[in-house]
Amino acid sequence: MFTPSYITLMNENNHLYDCIVLGLGPAGISASLYLKRYGDDVIAIGLDGGSLKEAHVIDNFYGLFHQRGEDILKLGYEQAKALEIPLRFEEVVDIEILDHVVIKTNKDIYHGKKLFLALGRNRRRPNIKNLRNFEGKGVSYCATCDGFLYRNKRIAILGEGGELMREEYDVLKNFTKDLFVLTNGVKIDYSNAIDKEISSIEGKDTIEKIVFKDNSTLKVDALFIASGVLDTFKSAKKIGLALDELEQIKINERYQTNVPFIFAGGDMVAGMKQIAKAVDDGMKAAFYIHQDLKNSV
Ligand SMILES: Cc1cc2nc3c(=O)[nH]c(=O)nc-3n(C[C@H](O)[C@H](O)[C@H](O)COP(=O)(O)OP(=O)(O)OC[C@H]3O[C@@H](n4cnc5c(N)ncnc54)[C@H](O)[C@@H]3O)c2cc1C
Repeated sequence: MFTPSYITLMNENNHLYDCIVLGLGPAGISASLYLKRYGDDVIAIGLDGGSLKEAHVIDNFYGLFHQRGEDILKLGYEQAKALEIPLRFEEVVDIEILDHVVIKTNKDIYHGKKLFLALGRNRRRPNIKNLRNFEGKGVSYCATCDGFLYRNKRIAILGEGGELMREEYDVLKNFTKDLFVLTNGVKIDYSNAIDKEISSIEGKDTIEKIVFKDNSTLKVDALFIASGVLDTFKSAKKIGLALDELEQIKINERYQTNVPFIFAGGDMVAGMKQIAKAVDDGMKAAFYIHQDLKNSV
């Protein structure tokens, strides 16, 4: 653990919140809504970003059909504001553990009795020409979200091996016989892997082919990126939170990490990387956080 350098600085009115929620995505906002309705003194901090903001179209969340992720995210902010939950659009730059938790952002310092971590899971974008242009047009970062759209089509998965890639591969193989494994030059233990370096992605409106550096091409309808992760997890490691082999924060059935007053949910922990699950995590974690707050009075 690093040496506290700013613990004597306190935020507005030296306030100690019941709970600080980090992350304004579905997990963070869901937790904030429940905590506030339990009557707890909660603040939610995060940037206007995350996976939901990047999701072009959401079709599989109950009651929402063909909505942009960004629009759903905004609804979440509005919902929190309507309940008078303070939202701070600030970057979290440091987390420190004393007998309570201290959060340093690019603008302020916050103190809380409990912390709910919902900072999502940053996706790693390989450096491939045109990759960003085809996001939502054949390039995807989530097999469970988008695999269904490409059933019986030609799908490629790109990764460097490991559990994340295995999980995504297992989902995708249910949708097609034509599943190609790409590694962008890395040698991995897949019998059918094409380990040539990729130069670019080409197509008209949607992805049509992958071009390799040796000028050979592969016709595909979709490319799933299964490269992990994860700047956010560096800070989790730094404060001593236990991670699993996929670099997800380990929690118990009460959403509690190995540091008892720190809880975590959504894409930061194991399980499906989906909105419904993130919302569920936020709701349940709020329940246990509230229980702990009540019991410690
Ligand atoms: C392209 C794409 C398409 C998807 N499609 C679907 C779909 O169709 N259906 C579905 O159910 N799911 C889909 N998902 C997955 C879904 O978006 C995630 O599972 C869900 O958003 C996870 O919620 P979360 O709250 O855990 O994290 P996120 O939504 O990622 O939210 C993380 C929050 O933390 C903030 N944050 C991170 N780091 C910092 C920092 N240092 N400082 C301050 N704030 C920070 C972010 O700004 C954000 O507010 C998709 C994801 C992607 C990327």
